[in-house]
Amino acid sequence: MRGTLTVFAGPMFAGKSARLLQSASLDAATLCLSPAFDTRSGASIHSRTGLTHPARPVSAWPDDAGAYRHLLLDEAHFMVAPHYRGDVVDDIRNALSQGVTISVAGLDTDYLREAFDVMTRLRGCADRFVSLKARCHCCGSPARWTAKKRRTGHKLEAGDDDLYEARCDAHWSAPEGA
Ligand SMILES: [Zn+2]
Repeated sequence: MRGTLTVFAGPMFAGKSARLLQSASLDAATLCLSPAFDTRSGASIHSRTGLTHPARPVSAWPDDAGAYRHLLLDEAHFMVAPHYRGDVVDDIRNALSQGVTISVAGLDTDYLREAFDVMTRLRGCADRFVSLKARCHCCGSPARWTAKKRRTGHKLEAGDDDLYEARCDAHWSAPEGA
């Protein structure tokens, strides 16, 4: 039987990692994957609500993925070339066809409000798609965008509230000079 795919998408600070961790029983049959690219967290998925769970940093699909009942992928928008070998969406589809249940969290758009292709494609094959919002850093309204506080020259860049803020439609803007 095909596994089911749940996707949690939204801007930064929307609670995606917390929802990801809450979506599975965190036992030996669950494997958490995080992009090797993102070195902030070491080998754990952290949510800003304080949940944490060990994660395996990956730059390709793990050979033993089929041995698990439930796979969790955090920061899936980072699982793209040159940080990831192969196509993570194809890898997920294959694992689903082998009966593995998969939950994915990631940014739906970057700080310029451009869609991350991986997340758009995953939305297309998700059994359940959960769109999460954060709180606007400026006004507290529901925020669906990530804003970068300054220009750094990198499109894919891990950071926290030192570099990014959640913003509503009215308060989003591109970083100075971008
Ligand atoms: Zn606002």
